[in-house]
Amino acid sequence: MDKAQAQQRIETLRKEISYHNRQYYVLDDPKITDAEYDALMRELNKLEEQFPELVTEDSPTRRVGGAPVEGFTKVVHEVPMLSLGNAYSPDEMREFDRRVRELAGGKVRYACELKIDGLAVSLRYENGVLIQGATRGDGEIGEDITTNIRTIHTVPLRLTEPISLEVRGEAYMPKRAFERLNQARELRGEPLFANPRNAAAGSLRQLDPKVAAQRRLSVFVYTLARADTGTPPAHSETLQWLGALGLPINPETTVLDDIEDVIDYIMSWQSKRHDLPYATDGMVIKVDDIDIQKRLGFTAKSPRWAIAYKYAAEQAQTQLRSIMLTV
Ligand code: NAD
Repeated sequence: MDKAQAQQRIETLRKEISYHNRQYYVLDDPKITDAEYDALMRELNKLEEQFPELVTEDSPTRRVGGAPVEGFTKVVHEVPMLSLGNAYSPDEMREFDRRVRELAGGKVRYACELKIDGLAVSLRYENGVLIQGATRGDGEIGEDITTNIRTIHTVPLRLTEPISLEVRGEAYMPKRAFERLNQARELRGEPLFANPRNAAAGSLRQLDPKVAAQRRLSVFVYTLARADTGTPPAHSETLQWLGALGLPINPETTVLDDIEDVIDYIMSWQSKRHDLPYATDGMVIKVDDIDIQKRLGFTAKSPRWAIAYKYAAEQAQTQLRSIMLTV
């Protein structure tokens, strides 16, 4: 493909992706599957890598999420809420490990966590009391959804210690709650939610907190953004500490120090994850040592010290769908 052709394809992809971003993040009404979306994004990423002079700052590859919805008070994230880079094969995981070791100057330990398929939320506690819940929005500015967050039973209104901190986690709707919700909507002749993520996003962005309260949402906290006290030196220990403060932490996290073991661990969850009571769309691998995380830093959109592995089932679905679309 020459530069002029690439330019044309890039423009088409950007328009298409921007349309789907708005449907997904702003309107909670996706028109394509995540795998199909990821395929568009990967194509754009590849073309921009091939023709770096065609990269623009407003490209969807440089931005996180979507604009906040009108109707909610806006929240400025003092620590930005970023996205994650993706990997789709063991070789891409090895490549990630190679980059990390190069930057870190040696071997590192990895925390491996399930990637919960919900939406990112930020929770702020002051002197141990929950004072704010927010969506990610575009990463810099989100929506204040405190009244809805307060209806989630697994989110403590008070921590076990009077600490001020901000954590990020994934709000999700358990599979059974999702099925029941859609059955009830079908009986009432209302439109169905596409998946539990979509249902959770729709529920948390209801202006009436009674609706959110009926939806049986839950949260898993997966990272600490800031705290007014000393914190553990490793991410996995931080999670344990947050759990001891009363925050809901996913129990399946494990720490491994060899990328081949990480890959085996990812594969061991490939089909097992379907038995979990909540939806997952991959596995998130993070450098465990916080000092090394700081040294590695961030790109415009995601940390260099973490990556999301997306399972092959979703990729197969994309290939099948694109075959169906082209015949
Ligand atoms: P992402 O889903 O690829 O990964 C980042 C997110 O993972 C984080 O923001 C966090 O919310 C979540 N996460 C879950 N468990 C986590 C854990 N243990 N640790 C850290 N993070 C964890 O990126 P994204 O920016 O949230 O969304 C992009 C994805 O959304 C795309 O890859 C696509 O699948 C989907 N999408 C779909 C459409 C569509 O039209 N179908 C449109 C836009 C985006």
